[in-house]
Amino acid sequence: METGCAICGKLTLYSDLQKLKDLDLDLNCLIGIGVTQKERTSSNDPITDLGGPVIDEELDSICKTCYKSVSKGKVPLMSLANGKWLGKVPEVLKSLTFAEQLLIARIRHNRCIIKVSSGMHKMKANAISFANPMPKIYDTLPPPIDELDDVLAFIYTGPCKPTNSDLERTPLLVRRKKVSAALEWLKLNHLDYLDLNISYDNLEKYPENGPPCVIEYRES
Ligand SMILES: [Zn+2]
Repeated sequence: METGCAICGKLTLYSDLQKLKDLDLDLNCLIGIGVTQKERTSSNDPITDLGGPVIDEELDSICKTCYKSVSKGKVPLMSLANGKWLGKVPEVLKSLTFAEQLLIARIRHNRCIIKVSSGMHKMKANAISFANPMPKIYDTLPPPIDELDDVLAFIYTGPCKPTNSDLERTPLLVRRKKVSAALEWLKLNHLDYLDLNISYDNLEKYPENGPPCVIEYRES
């Protein structure tokens, strides 16, 4: 059995881990400035560090490699404290579909064809990506919905045309409330999104619960 090291996060066998509470380790070398960011819920909240050593508070052990460094007062190369901290993935980001993730990405590297084939009970989705010659960088998100037809194509194959509940099960599902919640969270909590412009006009054009692009239907 294995679990993560609280210092570097690496999955490690229990036999190669030591409990932090059993060791008299000084973790002060893991205090980093500007490495972490406390979760903000409003733009009035100041941007501050979490404070204390940069470790994963939900884990309680240290791996051999980290122990070697920390016991000498050194920051381990692969440690969270050495700029690898990401923080917990919040619910608003965890539950996004493929299409919703596209709508919150600041850089677009590729175009994509999604093929969904549906049988009587099962549904299968395939994605084919083509690299863009030039990545596109977005200052405003989500992109205007018309632009999606250039980057996303959706082909649906099945014995009959997809119903709304079929479409809800595809990776192309877009729920605009989820998109706005994700963008608002990122703007508050992700440094790369600090200067992002959230376009509520663009958002309004997206479906409340459906695919954001034209569906090409092919009977199977
Ligand atoms: Zn470690």
